[in-house]
Amino acid sequence: MTVETTTHAEQILRRLGIEAENHGAFDGSWIATSGERIVSLNPATGEPLAAVRTASVEDYERVAESATAAFRAWRTWPAPKRGEVVRQLGLELRRHKEDLGALVTLEVGKIKTEGLGEVQEMIDMCDLAVGMSRQLYGKTMHSERPSHRMYEQWHPLGPVGIITAFNFPVAVWAWNAAVAAVCGDSMIWKPSSETPLTALAVTRIAARVLAANDAPPVFNLILADRTVGKEMTADRRVPLISATGSVTMGRAIGKAVSERLGRSLLELGGNNGVIITEKADLDLALRAVLFAAFGTAGQRCTTARRLFLQKGIAAEMKQRLIQAVRSIPVGDPMQDDVLMGPLVNQRAVDDMMQAIETIREQGGTLLTGGGRLDRPGFFVEPTVVEATPHMPITCEETFAPILYVFEFDELDEAIEIHNSVPQGLSSAIFTLDLREAERFLAATGSDCGIANVNIATSGAEIGGAFGGEKETGGGREAGSDAWKIYMRRQTNTVNWGTEMPLAQGVEFDVEA
Ligand code: NAD
Repeated sequence: MTVETTTHAEQILRRLGIEAENHGAFDGSWIATSGERIVSLNPATGEPLAAVRTASVEDYERVAESATAAFRAWRTWPAPKRGEVVRQLGLELRRHKEDLGALVTLEVGKIKTEGLGEVQEMIDMCDLAVGMSRQLYGKTMHSERPSHRMYEQWHPLGPVGIITAFNFPVAVWAWNAAVAAVCGDSMIWKPSSETPLTALAVTRIAARVLAANDAPPVFNLILADRTVGKEMTADRRVPLISATGSVTMGRAIGKAVSERLGRSLLELGGNNGVIITEKADLDLALRAVLFAAFGTAGQRCTTARRLFLQKGIAAEMKQRLIQAVRSIPVGDPMQDDVLMGPLVNQRAVDDMMQAIETIREQGGTLLTGGGRLDRPGFFVEPTVVEATPHMPITCEETFAPILYVFEFDELDEAIEIHNSVPQGLSSAIFTLDLREAERFLAATGSDCGIANVNIATSGAEIGGAFGGEKETGGGREAGSDAWKIYMRRQTNTVNWGTEMPLAQGVEFDVEA
C-alpha cells in the first residue's frame, strides 16, 4: 500500500468513527469486549485496516436483554413514528454515502461504484420502509355470523437476529433492519467476521439517529464467532432469525431455530443460470452476462455461474465472451477504471484454485483464466470453462469468478438442465421471441425465486421481494409483502350483537 492510500484509508475510517482497536458489541452503549482480536484486512493489499475484539456469550446475554427491553418500548411507538426514525436513518446514510461506500470497497474489495451502490441500496430500503410504515395492512373479512366483525392485524414480533454474509456487508442489514424497525422490532446484528468495520460504522450512524429521537436501542450489534451465533439462534427471546450466507450455514441455523419452533428467514447460496437462445439480441446478452458473471469478482449470491448457449450462436458467443473477459481490468478496486477487484481473502483464492483442479479432473476445459495474479492481495483471473451438465462441480456454488458454458439444442432441454441444480435463486433468458420468454416464466419454466427476461441474474431492485427456492432457503426480503415475516398476525372476531351464535352452525344451548 502506498503512503497516500494508507492516509486515504485512515481518513475514511476516522470520519466513520473507527479506531485502530474497537469494541465488538453495542446495546445502546459500546461494550468493552475482550474476546479474540480480529484484524480486518484490505483484500486489495492484504494489509490491516483496523482490529476488533469479539464479544463473549456473556456480552451476548447483555445485548439480548437490552434488545428485549428496547422491543417492549419500541412496539408502543406508532408505526409512522417509527417510520420517521427510519427516514432520518436514510438521511444520515446519504450524508455518509461516500465514506461508507469507500469502506465497503476497502474491506470487501468491491469496485467503487459497487461500494457506493450498496449504500444506495440501504438508502432505498429506508425510503421503502418509511412508506411501508403507513401500509402494514390487515384485511377485514365478512363473518358468517350476524352482528360480528372479523379482521386481522399485524403486531410487532420481537427482537430479530440478523446474521449477514461478507459479500453484502451493509445492504443485507438494511434489507432487514429498515423493515423490521418500522414493523416495531428491535434487532441484534451478527455480521461476518470478514467485515466487522462496515458493521461498526453502520451501527454508529444508526445509534446517532436513535439518540436524536430518544428512541430505545433497537439497532444492536454483536461481533462474535459462531459460538455466540449459535447462542443467538437457540435463544427463545429471539422469535425470528434472518440469516444470509452459505447453504451449510443455513442448514445449521435452520435446524437450530426449528428445534425451538422459532421462525427463520434464510437467504442462502445460488447457482444462477442464463439461457441465450438463437433469437436473442447478442450484444445486449453479452454485456449483461459480463457484469453478472464477473462483477463483484463473482462473489454475489446472484452471480451468473452457468451460461447456456443455443447451438446456432454458441461458437460466436464463446469467442466474443472470451475476448471480452480477457479485457476486464482487474486491480485496485479504488481505481476508477478497474472493473474487477480481489476476492475477499486467501481462503477464497485457495477455494477457487481447488475448484479449478476439480474442473480439470471432471473433464472441463478452461477457455480463459483459471489462475491467481502474482501481486499483493487476493486477486484471481476471471475464468470461463467449457463444461457439461454431468460435471458435479457445476451443481455447486464456487464463490469466485468462474463461468461454466454449456451448449443446447432445444429450449426445453436447457430449462431442464437449468433447473437440475439444488439451488434456486436467480435465472434469466435472453430472447426476443415472446413464446420463448413466456415458456421460461411459466410454471413449467425456471424454478427460481427470480426469473428475468433480457436482463441477467444479478443486480435486483429492492422493490420486489428477493430470495430463492430449494437450497437457497425460501426466504424473501425487501419489497412486496416481505414485511409480514417481521410481524405476528392476529385474527380478531368481535361480536357486537346480543346473540351468541357459533360458527359452522354448532349448537350448545345450556341454561345459563
Ligand atoms: P457464511 O455462510 O460463511 O457466513 C455467513 C454468516 O453466517 C456469517 O456471519 C457467519 O459468521 C455466520 N455463521 C456461519 N455459520 C453459523 C452458525 N452455525 N451459527 C450462526 N452463525 C453462523 O457465508 P459467507 O462466506 O459470509 O457469504 C457467502 C455466501 O452467502 C454465499 O453462499 C452466498 O451465495 C450467500 N449469500 C446469499 C445471499 C442471498 O440473499 N441469498 C446474499 C448474500 C450472500
